[in-house]
Amino acid sequence: MRTDAMVVHHSIAAWQEARRGADFAGSRIGFVPTMGALHAGHRALLDRAWTENDRVVLSIFVNPTQFNDPADLQKYPRPLEADLALAGEFATDVIVPAAGELYPDDYCFRVTEHGLTGELEGAHRPGHFDGVLTVVLKLLNLVQPHRSYFGEKDWQQLQLVRGMARTFFLPGEIVACPTVREDDGVALSSRNARLSAAGRARARMFPKILRESPDARVAAAALRETGFQVDYVEDRAGRRLGAVRVENVRLIDNVPL
Ligand code: AMP
Repeated sequence: MRTDAMVVHHSIAAWQEARRGADFAGSRIGFVPTMGALHAGHRALLDRAWTENDRVVLSIFVNPTQFNDPADLQKYPRPLEADLALAGEFATDVIVPAAGELYPDDYCFRVTEHGLTGELEGAHRPGHFDGVLTVVLKLLNLVQPHRSYFGEKDWQQLQLVRGMARTFFLPGEIVACPTVREDDGVALSSRNARLSAAGRARARMFPKILRESPDARVAAAALRETGFQVDYVEDRAGRRLGAVRVENVRLIDNVPL
């Protein structure tokens, strides 16, 4: 646990000035990009970053360009005070930029990947990964980390970020962190809080069915029978990935096969 004071940078200019300063010279920098509403999943990324680096930079930015559903963007929780309290245990610096600052071009420039983006999440959320890759590239350029930490919970996002880093020769390592789950197996997500008690009880069947079904088709059928609307279940590269909706809340998960 850290004891020195964490610095919160509310503007990109303030952050850039700090990044050029003596505190960062010669330091190994770990970076954890998030949209806030921090939970134990984010905490695991921060904790790992803290053990592997001298400074840990956390960004909190609800990225509007990755929301294909405006209602979802509006409903996204923004508990900044609680986030900063959690961040204080691990992060030396927190960047909380305003959307206008990160998108001075009104999102005219963007990163588009033309392979994996068309499948799985991308097929159900048009434009989502353009928004993700664009904001990640901007943040990586601003932070210039030695290591960046991403969760396996968002498996497709992790593959695309890795691909972008490789393709554009971005310096720094992309580190994958295992999915953190509740005791009953449900992957931690800020969206879980939107479920009723009954919806939350049903949600526990999602990872269980993904894990226990003999193939993806059987898993999809079992999920429908259990009351989920199924966007997809597919097996890829030794993992089973799925997205379902329950009570209008969209949940994604993936498990090793
Ligand atoms: P988000 O704030 O949802 O954009 O997530 C920020 C980072 O935390 C991403 O790299 C996610 O994959 C990761 N993350 C979110 N939930 C979990 C979880 N339950 N376990 C591990 N990593 C997670």
